[in-house]
Amino acid sequence: MPLQDTPTRRQLIGSALGAATTLAVASQLFGAAERVAALSAAVVGPARAVDPAVRLGITGKLTFPVDTSATFGSLVCLNNFGGRSNANGACNHAGVDIGNDEISGLGRPLLACADGFVEKDETFSDSAGRTRILRDGLGTFYRYHHLDSYESSLSEGDAVTAGQVIGYMGNTGNTVWSHLHFEIWQDSLTPSEATIIDPVPRLPFPLEGVSLNSPTACSS
Ligand SMILES: [Zn+2]
Repeated sequence: MPLQDTPTRRQLIGSALGAATTLAVASQLFGAAERVAALSAAVVGPARAVDPAVRLGITGKLTFPVDTSATFGSLVCLNNFGGRSNANGACNHAGVDIGNDEISGLGRPLLACADGFVEKDETFSDSAGRTRILRDGLGTFYRYHHLDSYESSLSEGDAVTAGQVIGYMGNTGNTVWSHLHFEIWQDSLTPSEATIIDPVPRLPFPLEGVSLNSPTACSS
């Protein structure tokens, strides 16, 4: 399936936000008839740009990107967005690391965190390793790093549903620990154009079988 942007959905959200704002103001100032008129005008009004943070607020919690089934063992999520990267020591860790607590997580299923598409499959042998990138309908990209293998029934452009297996946990690239390094990039896969955000607020914690470490972000 070809990749396509979703301007219709964006427009709907833009309009809905406009409607909500207008309605909230109208509720304070006018009676029922005026509120209906204001809402109607907002719904049919032009689409507007929506701040990424507002859009993230709309989309809410993601499906956890790793299978939490007890049969695979307990998980730990290192709360290390912006923290010190084990690989190079710099305070630029752009995601969180999720792996098994005590036993190897090699081959543990990785799940689509949202409805969307397989945007790109790519391998960076000296860093992210085998990588699969998903994209949702709101222009958010979800990067899965260090995969042992891809779910072979999927390839670039295929649609995915939240919770669907998209690959298997591994230690490819610059790591020896089998884990998922998970990143969220808003609007672009070009570093200078993307807003890279902390995944933790979007993950469905508290979550049975997954312990979330204390934040380890660098203070300087
Ligand atoms: Zn990492």
